[in-house]
Amino acid sequence: MYDIIIVGAGPAGMTAAIYARRAARTVLVLEALSYGGQIINTPDIENYPVEAHISGFDFSTKVYEQAKGLGAEFKFEKVVGLRDEGAVKTVVTQKNEYQAKAVILATGSENRKLGLEDEQKLTGRGVSYCATCDGNFYRKKVVAVVGGGNTALEDALYLSDLAQKVYLIHRRDSFRGEETNAARLSERENVEIIYNANVTRLLSEKRLTGIEVTNKLDGSVRTLEVNGLFIAVGRVPENENFAGLVDLDEAGYVAAGEDCHTRTPGVFVAGDNRAKMLRQLVTATADGAMAATEAVKYINAMA
Ligand code: NAP
Repeated sequence: MYDIIIVGAGPAGMTAAIYARRAARTVLVLEALSYGGQIINTPDIENYPVEAHISGFDFSTKVYEQAKGLGAEFKFEKVVGLRDEGAVKTVVTQKNEYQAKAVILATGSENRKLGLEDEQKLTGRGVSYCATCDGNFYRKKVVAVVGGGNTALEDALYLSDLAQKVYLIHRRDSFRGEETNAARLSERENVEIIYNANVTRLLSEKRLTGIEVTNKLDGSVRTLEVNGLFIAVGRVPENENFAGLVDLDEAGYVAAGEDCHTRTPGVFVAGDNRAKMLRQLVTATADGAMAATEAVKYINAMA
């Protein structure tokens, strides 16, 4: 029996572990694959206080070591369910069940798919959701990025340093991402921006060989020969496994305020899977601190 089980070892979950350990609570952090979460794919973090530049991997490793150093236990098992038995919460993984007095859900989000035929089959064969992970395979090749948020803009910038040519395909005529990123992109000679268009078909032999792009305004279809397609159309929260115990908003985020309380006493939420105005590293770590503090208060009130 742990005091607090934290589901998810991204910035929110690991910060919650630091705060819970500093309050002398026993802590188990459960994570499917490895620590870090989404930020691990960011090559250069420039907007977190103290370090002007740090890679997502280095940042995550430092936080992981900090949490471990304070005595948080980590297990790498995928969580598939949560049961509320009042004073005891049971977290179910693919291998085991663990019990705690309080649980913090810090599961973050996963890449949104385009939903195209063969998208899954071609993932790793020309289709990617992570430019910084896979960009190196496309040196001097032709790639396309789809999306109009900061991730798509930053991916296109990153890839334009490596690839021979980058198409950026966005479904509207203006970007959702920051103006500074858009301005930097417009200066890149090897970037072609295609507005008001959707990727409507993936062409392949064994690997991706091209894409069909349909103009939303006139319906015209253009075939682009590309070696790689980087899909950056946002993320979806990973909350389905807990839907019975927490309220979700229409987009699937846990409906919880700044205090990180869910509708189930003793179950808290922290980070990108919570409904919020701004999803950034700094707001994720802030949530981790808040959720752990509230969980400790909840446990103290039980005693
Ligand atoms: P996002 O801001 O939600 O943008 C997703 C983009 O994908 C939007 O342009 C959207 O189009 C488009 N889209 C969604 N579904 C689509 C579909 N089915 N087909 C085609 N296009 C589709 O996601 P994000 O870029 O991953 O960013 C997530 C959050 O992280 C944001 O708050 C972002 O600012 C932040 N972020 C920050 C940094 C940074 O500070 N350095 C870096 C990366 C991300 P519409 O615009 O038409 O909706």
